[in-house]
Amino acid sequence: MDKGTFLWFTGVPASGKSTIGRGVEKALKERGIRIENLDADEIRANLSPDLGFTAKDRDLNTKRLAFMGKILTRNGVCAIVAAVSPLREHRDRARKLVDSFLEVHVKATLDTCKQRDPKGLYKRAERGEIADIAGWHMPYEAPEKPEVDLDTDTEDVDTCVNKVLLTMETLGYIPKADGTAKAYSDEDQKKVEERLRGLGYIE
Ligand code: ADP
Repeated sequence: MDKGTFLWFTGVPASGKSTIGRGVEKALKERGIRIENLDADEIRANLSPDLGFTAKDRDLNTKRLAFMGKILTRNGVCAIVAAVSPLREHRDRARKLVDSFLEVHVKATLDTCKQRDPKGLYKRAERGEIADIAGWHMPYEAPEKPEVDLDTDTEDVDTCVNKVLLTMETLGYIPKADGTAKAYSDEDQKKVEERLRGLGYIE
């Protein structure tokens, strides 16, 4: 476990990527694991103020995030990216750069996202100010084989965080939790193992 895991959260706006990413970050820190959350807004403000939201800029933005993930994880630090990243090609490009990649698909229905709308994006779209929301105006290419598949319409934040941690453990990316840190049942554990086996990620 001398290399860090690269956790890439993808999903339409307001599906819950940042919220779950922060939960995973906190839980990993509590277990003494070094982790850097590459907050999309912070990175854009500090490293990529030159980038907007055109197709070319989004391409460059995911490239930069992927590169940062690569240099952190090769030094034993886990990295979290929470980005809509609607294009499969961009996510697969990041996957190819690191040994321990975990793609987390965060799902929610359009109705739920419109209701949550923490950044007011959907309201702006309803007023006709923007028309580039992935999953609504633009295609969102769902991952075909994400290591973790979360449905935030039916699973609460803690359940989602635990599924991510359990998947990391099952893939051998982090040590198994001891009795006190373990917050999931044997049945949850079995489901995660079956899923990863079905996808060919474990034997
Ligand atoms: P994103 O990063 O995908 O744009 P955010 O995490 O910023 O989304 O916002 C999601 C909103 O939905 C937050 O206000 C969060 O509290 C709420 N929410 C409700 N249920 C969940 C859940 N199960 N998982 C994640 N977020 C949830």
